Amino acid sequence: MSAPVTLLVHGGAGTLTRADLSPAQELEYRDALGQALRAGQSLLLRGASAVDAVVAAVSVLEDCPLFNAGKGSVFTHEGRNEMDAAVMDGATGQAGAVAGVVSVRNPVLAAQSVMQRSGHVLLIGQGAEAFAQSQGLAMEGPEYFHTAHRWQQLQAALAQNQVMLDHDGQRQPDQSKPIDRKFGTVGAVALDAHGHLAAATSTGGMTNKMFGRVGDSPLIGAGTYACDATAAVSATGAGEFFMRGVVAHDIAARMAYGGLSLAQATEATVRDKLDATGGRGGVIALDRQGHYQLAFNTEGMYRGLVQGNGPPQIAIYRD
Ligand code: ASP
Repeated sequence: MSAPVTLLVHGGAGTLTRADLSPAQELEYRDALGQALRAGQSLLLRGASAVDAVVAAVSVLEDCPLFNAGKGSVFTHEGRNEMDAAVMDGATGQAGAVAGVVSVRNPVLAAQSVMQRSGHVLLIGQGAEAFAQSQGLAMEGPEYFHTAHRWQQLQAALAQNQVMLDHDGQRQPDQSKPIDRKFGTVGAVALDAHGHLAAATSTGGMTNKMFGRVGDSPLIGAGTYACDATAAVSATGAGEFFMRGVVAHDIAARMAYGGLSLAQATEATVRDKLDATGGRGGVIALDRQGHYQLAFNTEGMYRGLVQGNGPPQIAIYRD
């Protein structure tokens, strides 16, 4: 029997404990993750491709100001929103990505267009913007992406002179008073009815990052990877560690070359490439048999799952 269609999403990892979210805030996050899961699930149940499902799920989260992607992206040191996104199709090995875009409403749609229509894998900055516009994608001014909570988060990061993983920036500098949390890089991995895998990731990066800094999310193999023979992976966390460890591909490589299962490969990669180096974050990973992993070494990770026509299962904290 073939595996049921499956979709996993994440909304970022970081310092997230029960004490940090009010019940009302928790509900908002759960609602948003549920909407993203249902958007992708309804496509998968109608026979759509894994690529279309991950793009649909990530677009929902980009439009939601709670997460650090699209609307609600974090600010650079200079107070700009510079966004990165990637998509990979496990069936064909095709991939597309954009980095440092400032006005594309849904960077994941631009990444999909790069994959399907540019003949390239990664476009950056003004070139990526021009290409997205030529594809008829919606563009927005800086006011669309600006959210008060992110701005406050940048001020806290500037005061501490720190580059922050979004969920870690949710406390005031004195660490005593939580700032309302509206943070989280987003990603999705899917298995479609035809047995194909795909992955997508979208982010505003890290609060107070240097101009022009690109994270792991748009780098194929680092923050995003999909191959039908092994796994689809989307990562979140301190991007520099995921780039150095080529984390998403590392999981697939352990399966391909070492014959490890998805669970063994994910555990080994988190241990050797993140824990061992001080890298903090997490991954969602899925194979063609429908085995899945939602792994992280932070206090929490916004995450969710649907299989077949079952209801969304959503979790935030470690326990
Ligand atoms: N991985 C992202 C980056 O480094 C940040 C995140 O996951 O929150 O750009």
